[in-house]
Amino acid sequence: MSTVPTPAWRPAEGERRARDLFASTFRTAPGGTWSAPGRVNLIGEHTDYNGGLALPIALPHRTYAAVARRDDDVVRLVSAQEPSGVHQVRLADVAPGTVTGWAAYVVGVAWALRQAGHDVGGFDVAIDSCVPSGAGLSSSAALEASVGVALDASFRLGLAGGVDATGAPTDDAGRALLADLCVRAENEMAGAPTGGMDQAASLRAREGHALLLDCRDGAVRHVPFDLATHGLALLVVDTRAPHSHVGGEYAQRRAACEDAARHLGVASLRDVADDARGDAWALEALAAAPDGAVLVPRVRHVTSEIARVAAFVDALGSGEPAAVGPLMDASHASLRDDYEVSCRELDVAVDAARAAGALGARMTGGGFGGSAIALVRAADVAHVADAVAASSAAHGLAAPAFAVAVAGPPAA
Ligand code: ADP
Ligand code: MG
Repeated sequence: MSTVPTPAWRPAEGERRARDLFASTFRTAPGGTWSAPGRVNLIGEHTDYNGGLALPIALPHRTYAAVARRDDDVVRLVSAQEPSGVHQVRLADVAPGTVTGWAAYVVGVAWALRQAGHDVGGFDVAIDSCVPSGAGLSSSAALEASVGVALDASFRLGLAGGVDATGAPTDDAGRALLADLCVRAENEMAGAPTGGMDQAASLRAREGHALLLDCRDGAVRHVPFDLATHGLALLVVDTRAPHSHVGGEYAQRRAACEDAARHLGVASLRDVADDARGDAWALEALAAAPDGAVLVPRVRHVTSEIARVAAFVDALGSGEPAAVGPLMDASHASLRDDYEVSCRELDVAVDAARAAGALGARMTGGGFGGSAIALVRAADVAHVADAVAASSAAHGLAAPAFAVAVAGPPAA
């Protein structure tokens, strides 16, 4: 078992892999290679579908798409991560429910672009990726966004713009539109009712910055995020926990939030988080509702989590990033106890990281498995990783995988 953090592929390696897979599969060279990052959310979990705030960074781990446009409306797709071989569909036949499995994420992006009136035809695509799949690091959005920027360039849609010398996207408005279409692909074609955070992080993040995303109006702000200059590091722990109930549990949490908002007469729980009176009035009103025993803790998580995002951004701005540690701890407790989306593997990882000296730790992503993050002194990375691995083994859990996260560039 290795606790040495897994490095991301260098871009040249990822591009070569995708190109080679394209050439060996389709017996010709691609028109180009594009890529998009996975993400790790620093704080602001289960807030996106409540119009709240989230603070992801783009990972250096990326999904690479080698693409060539075709003259017909056929899509052929292959992925190094999927043993099922080459899939083929005609865009004219595509509608929600007609494409299943991983192909739905890819074909869904083309479908959503066409639904929005963009002139996208057939294409061949080969995918390779170093974003761990199903680890809560958003390999699904990385896949959608890599295909999104590839189709944008291949069919000259003019949505994605480029990335400037500072690592920032040049056309955020266009990328916001593209991100929305990737969400549509995931919701309607892949059938996963996710919010918009993952796609925004992959397409709209800026290198060296966290992305403060306001999910009510889609506005973003780039917040400098450079732990290394403070002698700190962000350790990502992929618990490799099997998570079979994610979809249903996620949908239930989302439905509970919508129920609560309806009961309170607000458009979204963001309105409660922003209420000058605080959230006590809402929790009191919900306590009297028939399913108040469930809705009260759910809403308490959402409103407190939105406040923690704002406090996290303030702490980063104060030049004392270690101050975010207690906010990470509080976020984990809230997700575990009030929102009930943690699991044993995540709790073990978080507790072990803290016991080994992490300044703060929390689950990240939707929960029920996936990954945790720990803020650690740079010199402690190996020690904390060893401690988490040892504790997982002692609890009879799968051996976790580790990565050190820095804020990478967006899709391009
Ligand atoms: P996460 O986004 O946290 O990694 P999801 O369950 O949302 O987990 O998405 C994982 C799914 O996305 C996979 O089961 C697969 O269908 C698809 N996917 C992601 N990356 C790839 C890839 N490189 N090749 C093929 N399919 C992929
Ligand atoms: Mg996903």
